[in-house]
Order: sequence, then structure tokens, then C-alpha cells
Amino acid sequence: MNFIDIHTHSKTRLTGVTKVVNIFPWDNVGIDEGNDRIITAGIHPWFIDEVDIEAALQQIESWIKSGIVKGVGETGLDRIKGPKESDQESVFEEHIKMSEKYRCPLTVHCVRRDNEIIGIRKKMNAKQPWILHGFNSSLQMMEQMVNAGIHISLGPQLLKGDDKLKEVCRLVPPEYLFLETDDSNVAIEEIYRKVAGIRSITVDELKVITDNNFRSLGFIDNCPDRQ
Ligand SMILES: [Zn+2]
Repeated sequence: MNFIDIHTHSKTRLTGVTKVVNIFPWDNVGIDEGNDRIITAGIHPWFIDEVDIEAALQQIESWIKSGIVKGVGETGLDRIKGPKESDQESVFEEHIKMSEKYRCPLTVHCVRRDNEIIGIRKKMNAKQPWILHGFNSSLQMMEQMVNAGIHISLGPQLLKGDDKLKEVCRLVPPEYLFLETDDSNVAIEEIYRKVAGIRSITVDELKVITDNNFRSLGFIDNCPDRQ
């Protein structure tokens, strides 16, 4: 059974690892497909001011229609970096509409705007699975996310030894848990070992959990509505 890296920017294939690789609409795709490498595309909130949003959204949509891209994101809200909040929100909402239209999972970037993420999911009545990548917030916020149907992905931040995040890691309901490497050089195996230790289970047991969750997202045979 493979490790699942639910959010990475590295396109390199690794034996024994299923990757969800996030690309940007201005990237060169040219990527061969395979069940061990799923491509998602989105406009990162940091770069909203630097690109032609309409053209970028069209690019994502055409990749979805052609089957190259099987999920939307990363996209989201960032209080620290990027343009003003209302601009970030409108671009985020465009991604949500696409995720709903094509029935694709959505990978969400969030820095200190957790409440808004939950509020927008509710406001838009979004039904597709969302993965809050690089979760780094409180236990209460994790619970609220899960209650809103949002998956929690934990990454290299966990290796820094923050006690609050460890507690989150211990208590994420198994069916909502994912692990990731994002843009780090950390091996996904290392994150698995850390999380398995915190949750007092084996790495193999953890692999079963994330494999089931990954299948439930429907990345592999998703986008049934694309024409
Ligand atoms: Zn990322």
C-alpha cells in the first residue's frame, strides 16, 4: 500500500508514494498521467495580483475538461501574504464553483482565516471534499473544520514539535486525516512515522487510514461531469 502525499509541488515520481501534485495555471503541464500522480491546479492567493485571473481560470477549466487535472487548488485565503481580502475571496469562490461544477476535490490554503473558510463553505453550500492543507491552527478550529466536512492535512510543521499541533494530530478523526510534504524536502515517510508515533499506531495502520480517505475523495475517477 502506498504512502499518500496529499499536497506537494514536486512532480518527481517516487516508488511507493501516491502524490497529489499542485501546479499553477501558468506552469507547463506536459505531464503523463498515472494513478500514482494526480494533478490539481489552482491560483495560489499569493499570486492573484500577478496574473490574468480570467485566463488562468480558463486554463484550469480546460485542463479539467481534458482530464489532465483531477482536482482544483491550491486556492484559498491568507491574512499574511497576498492582495486584499476581498480579492482573495472572489478568486477563492471561482475555484469553489469549478470544484462543484466538475465534482472535483478542492485543496485549500489557509493562513489565519479559518473562520472565513468555514463560512464560505457554508455560504456556497459546497458539497465537494475540501482538504485544508498544512493545517496549523487550534484544536477547536480543527473540530469546526471537521464538523463542516473539511479534511485536515498535516505536514512538515508537525516535525517542529509544537505541542498544540501534536494534540490536533492525535485527535483528528481518522476519516478526515491526510499527510503532506507541500514544498519541503522532507520525505513523506518521515511525516508518517511522526504521526503514527503521536497517534500510537503503526505506519502500516496509518497507511490504511489515508488510503481509504484518498479513495473516498474520488480523485482517480472524478470529474464525471466534464465534457
Ligand atoms: Zn502548497
